[in-house]
Amino acid sequence: MKINIVNIPEEGLTLPFSKEANYYLDILSEKEKNEFSHGRVEVKCSLKKIRETVMIEGELETFVNTNCCRCLEPTSIAVKNGFRYILMPANNKRLSEEMELCAEDLEFGYYEGDFIDLDPIIYEQIILPIPMKVLCQESCKGLCPHCGINLNMASCHCHIANTIGQFAVLKKLKI
Ligand SMILES: [Zn+2]
Ligand SMILES: [Zn+2]
Repeated sequence: MKINIVNIPEEGLTLPFSKEANYYLDILSEKEKNEFSHGRVEVKCSLKKIRETVMIEGELETFVNTNCCRCLEPTSIAVKNGFRYILMPANNKRLSEEMELCAEDLEFGYYEGDFIDLDPIIYEQIILPIPMKVLCQESCKGLCPHCGINLNMASCHCHIANTIGQFAVLKKLKI
């Protein structure tokens, strides 16, 4: 979604819009692709322009489908994220660097020409809140390291068998 900054009025511009599921995955190259897909994205954002600087404030809601890192089952997590960006013209690096120093808690970006592309910003905000290790549930029991069974759905006797096995070894040693 490209916004012509010339069209941002004095009082700012408020934009509710939505993006199709996986809209950004088509643009990414094969090696940039992550192991997830996302649902339809609902975005509310407002843009304000102060001279050449554009401030974007917004909120998005979607869900991300990925796999639980313990049991490897597909799982989805809700994403609801607020964001604030300050975008500056790419040709004014000095101004940008000064701004970066005085507002550490904000995300910075640049725009080229008269257009701001919201798509990469939205995409960044979808991935940012995804934890490094996604769990289907906090108490996920994962897979049995011996037989690979999903311990959330079934139980196995590997643990007991293993303990007996160790005792057998000990007995042999004594003899
Ligand atoms: Zn799990
Ligand atoms: Zn097992």
